[in-house]
Amino acid sequence: MRACNHSRASAPRRKGLVEQRIVAKHTPSIAKNQMRRCCIAVIDPPPSNADIDRLWKFFDSSCAYCGAALVRGERRDHVLSQSALGTNDIHNQVLSCGLCNGDEKREEPWESFLARKVSSASLQRRRRARIEEWMQQAPPGRLSISSKKRRTAEAIARAFKDFDAAVEELRALKGRST
Ligand SMILES: [Zn+2]
Repeated sequence: MRACNHSRASAPRRKGLVEQRIVAKHTPSIAKNQMRRCCIAVIDPPPSNADIDRLWKFFDSSCAYCGAALVRGERRDHVLSQSALGTNDIHNQVLSCGLCNGDEKREEPWESFLARKVSSASLQRRRRARIEEWMQQAPPGRLSISSKKRRTAEAIARAFKDFDAAVEELRALKGRST
């Protein structure tokens, strides 16, 4: 909303530029990219702010792996990675410091990462139980879209086919006199 008002306020000065940018965006391939992102956001929406609040509270504002204190806004880690078709569901995310998430864990399964990160067996058990407790709160089938991957791809392909046919029809119509 704020960004919208801002661009409107400065619109007269940059009018030519803004119009040029909008025209450039109206291509079928850009529309299809947007359609794909939109479809994926339907099946795998990002977490709400209330969900993110719950996550920070549950993990007591500290890294789920090493226990480092975090300040709000620091990163979150997908427990099941996107290559494992893990979702954006809040229960597939834990709080993670930059070192654990960005530098050390990367695509490694969280269980083995936690095992090599935390040397104390009892601490390791506690942190593992905490993460599992959080993941178990996910509604059924929400941690991974692996079982829904084929149907998601089919639905997107169907939308593209209809869209391509509409574009072809309009291109043909453009060249007609009536
Ligand atoms: Zn950490």
